[in-house]
Amino acid sequence: MRLATTPPLPRPLMRSHLAARRGYVGWLRGFGLVCVGVLFAMVLHSSTPASEASTPPAAAPRAPEDRWVALRFGRLVEASGRVVRDAVIVVRNDRIFAVGGPETAIPPNAAYVDLSRLTAIPGLIDVHTHLTYYWDQRDPMRPWEQLVSRLPAMSVFLAQENARKTLEVGVTTVRDLGSFEQMDIAMRDLIQRGAMLGPRMLVSGYGLQISDELPKQSRATLESGRADGPAEVMRVVRQQIGAGADWIKMYGSTGSGDDVSGQQTFTYEEMKAAVDAAHNLGRKIAIHSYGASGARDAVRAGADSVEHAVDLDDATLQEMVRRRIYYVPTIDHNRYYIDNAVGFGYTPVAVERMKSFLARNLQTTRRAHQLGVRIAMGSDAVMTMCGQNTRELAWFVQAGMTPLAALATATTQAAALLGKEKILGSLAPGYLADIVAVEGDPVTDVRSVIYGVRWVMKGGVVVVSRISEEKNQLRMVD
Ligand SMILES: [Zn+2]
Repeated sequence: MRLATTPPLPRPLMRSHLAARRGYVGWLRGFGLVCVGVLFAMVLHSSTPASEASTPPAAAPRAPEDRWVALRFGRLVEASGRVVRDAVIVVRNDRIFAVGGPETAIPPNAAYVDLSRLTAIPGLIDVHTHLTYYWDQRDPMRPWEQLVSRLPAMSVFLAQENARKTLEVGVTTVRDLGSFEQMDIAMRDLIQRGAMLGPRMLVSGYGLQISDELPKQSRATLESGRADGPAEVMRVVRQQIGAGADWIKMYGSTGSGDDVSGQQTFTYEEMKAAVDAAHNLGRKIAIHSYGASGARDAVRAGADSVEHAVDLDDATLQEMVRRRIYYVPTIDHNRYYIDNAVGFGYTPVAVERMKSFLARNLQTTRRAHQLGVRIAMGSDAVMTMCGQNTRELAWFVQAGMTPLAALATATTQAAALLGKEKILGSLAPGYLADIVAVEGDPVTDVRSVIYGVRWVMKGGVVVVSRISEEKNQLRMVD
């Protein structure tokens, strides 16, 4: 049986997903009995056989009234180069209803937000995060050790800070590439239900890894992503999808943190098995490879995106162009590790290795851009890097992109990689109302996008506002 690309999942898979949700009930108690009640109602509802579920309730609740908001901006800028002066965006509930100049009709009952000192850009997309990787600064333990020794429920709770900081830099959607204990799935669902503030998440559950060590008691929670040989790879891919993953993540080489070795791990056959298993179930797959050989096999196997890789030869890059495979360079995450080497406990020798890798990463990005490879912005934000997600864009400009081409990597290109190009990445009627207001000029200066974010709307709801009260009052038009 094949899975549909969207829920509901088939019965056996749905049960396992629900079982996972039940596991979090204890933690959810922290949110109060109301949340538990909602969860319980959801479980009951989801468990109802399809025939009963389709019976209309005796008294159907009245549809809530539409929420209208009119936003006024000095300018509106999109990655396509479209610029609208004195722009008005009319938002109806979670979607953009109309976009135009000052003549745009505003419904009489719309709330009005004057952001005319600022420029509107689409909500940004970070296609490589690990929001559940939280660094508790009060804990003397090194960040990576913290991660595997802390209770998953605590990590999910603490990771709210990562989610909030990510929103604050204008990132309204993330593709989260790897977690464990289904923390990413819990976080995605909590954000979707409004119980947690954060970006819209597409998640991948356990990243697939080869068995390269004896299982250790302290790392038992990481073992569920282990797979060797095509058959095991297919099983683990299917398990992630069954658990509720939107994407599949596969570690096709060594390399993480201060290790930039890039030795290929999974074989071509294993990668092909993962790609086929994911695609057959309507999911896409991102393959991590620091080195060129893993990336070459990932491209040959038909991955949807290749993460991190350096030293890609022209033939591989041209094949990526031909097969529309995305390159997600994640240059900036090594800058982050270098800046925080002391806290992570990285040696000066490791720092030198990371510097060298970063330079090759930038060079590979420059060549990929020259050859027309599709590039999407992924920060690989972990720990305290959340909130620095968009610094990657400055490296893209250094690699030869215009500021607008860099903006595209976090809007239109990223949306296309996610298969969401009809609802994300643009400010047009019908799109989700993910809107960011920035200071400065995104057309000429990428720093406007990186450091100039002042106000953020996600799905029609204002989630960040750093504008002064007297100048920008929210008022009702009467
Ligand atoms: Zn990563």
